[in-house]
Amino acid sequence: MTDFLPTGIELSYLVAASLFIFGLKKLGSPATARQGNVIAAVGMLLAIVATLLERQVLNYQMILLALVIGSVLGVIAALKVQMTDMPQMVGLLNGLGGAASALVGIGEFWRLLSTGEPVTLYATITIILGVLIGGVTLTGSLVAFAKLQGLLPGAPMTFPLQQPINALILIGFFVVSGFLIATPGHLSIFLGLLAISLLLGVLFVIPIGGGDMPVVISLLNSYSGLAASAAGFVVMNNMLIIAGALVGASGIILTQIMCKAMNRSLASVLFGAFGSSGSVAIAGASGSSDQTVKSVDAEEAAMMLGYARNVVIVPGYGMAVAQAQHAVRELADQLDKLGVEVKYAIHPVAGRMPGHMNVLLAEANVPYPQLYDMDDINPQFDETDVALVIGANDVVNPAARSDAGSPIYGMPILEVDKAKHAIVIKRGMSTGFAGVDNELFYKDKTMMLFGSAKDVVAQLVSQVKQL
Ligand code: NDP
Repeated sequence: MTDFLPTGIELSYLVAASLFIFGLKKLGSPATARQGNVIAAVGMLLAIVATLLERQVLNYQMILLALVIGSVLGVIAALKVQMTDMPQMVGLLNGLGGAASALVGIGEFWRLLSTGEPVTLYATITIILGVLIGGVTLTGSLVAFAKLQGLLPGAPMTFPLQQPINALILIGFFVVSGFLIATPGHLSIFLGLLAISLLLGVLFVIPIGGGDMPVVISLLNSYSGLAASAAGFVVMNNMLIIAGALVGASGIILTQIMCKAMNRSLASVLFGAFGSSGSVAIAGASGSSDQTVKSVDAEEAAMMLGYARNVVIVPGYGMAVAQAQHAVRELADQLDKLGVEVKYAIHPVAGRMPGHMNVLLAEANVPYPQLYDMDDINPQFDETDVALVIGANDVVNPAARSDAGSPIYGMPILEVDKAKHAIVIKRGMSTGFAGVDNELFYKDKTMMLFGSAKDVVAQLVSQVKQL
């Protein structure tokens, strides 16, 4: 039995790791994403049960108490947090992951000190890495959370020589680490390292702002995985090392995808202070442009939609805030009854997190085959009778293609301006996330349908029903 248990645990870890990888693979498509989630969750359950059977577990009561508190908080948060607040929720969770990893490093250091066991080079290096990555992830994520939640100013906070100072502090960390390696088990040096890690997290995130914040959240997600891996090396737990590496790798891939979809390099996100008052040209922002727009009411818009051959719906952040996805689905159903072909065009960074629109539309049971990625739908806009833009702005802004001075220049967009007609639903002429005016709204073939997305789409549904 004594020999069997560790082998059984390692085997369970192997199965759990395979389930994680299989689950991740399934997350790659909306059609299989839910299944992927369940598979990965089963893997995690298996990993947790196997770890709890580990003979080194000293106190089951404390673990049970933590599980109950964590589960209650998790369920409350999952029920209460709005989809549009997800980035800051993920930010907070990343921070907790970083804190947990740093605590593992601190706990191991404390254990070595209190038992008087020799502090090996391996232990010192893994503890230093765990504390560095965990500490940076914790405070960086808390600053990101505070910015997204509006508790701190969202714009980049900069000061002279910021990057060189950050680099010097990081070098300082490694120099002090050298001292800890030379004098293993030195408590005050260890506490100094912990303090520098926490400071670095704050300094790393404060110069980043505005539209770059979700990218940073994704990067911190990757860090939280690396921190977990480092913690895995500290306590020599293979499961933690593998799971952390998977989170680290998928987080960095997601970060790359987001950077690409916004046409930004990771370096410019981290060091570019995009969104600071000086760097964004807000031409005619908030509708201050002299040009005029054409507006229609729901009745006219419904006629255009109902008599079209095909309609492409372009959802954006405004649809998410208004929670209009169910009404949008109903509108598509009504149009379908009239023989109108309806497709949805999904931009990779529409909304405030990757896949935001896919998740919302899936929640409203929009059939997956009707969802088209940007590259698939763009060639079809030429043949589209009406593009119906619902609460999207930056992702349909032609300035990204034509205005080299625009901050979003080069960002791939949905080419709604190529459709025969465009109807844009939004409340007023406010700009989107990037803070730039949108020439699409002033084009001859564009009609603005003003109002909050959910109300306006509901009006469209009742008007289309009367056709
Ligand atoms: P935008 O943020 O560009 O625009 C949203 C528009 O929705 C606003 O202009 C607003 O105009 C309108 N709106 C707000 N509330 C409502 C409502 N209740 N009803 C109707 N309209 C409403 O959204 P997009 O989705 O086009 O673009 C996403 C932006 O977020 C991009 O700049 C992207 O780079 C950025 N971003 C996205 C990330 C992602 O992963 N998805 C990550 C990082 C950044 P008005 O106030 O006039 O109604």
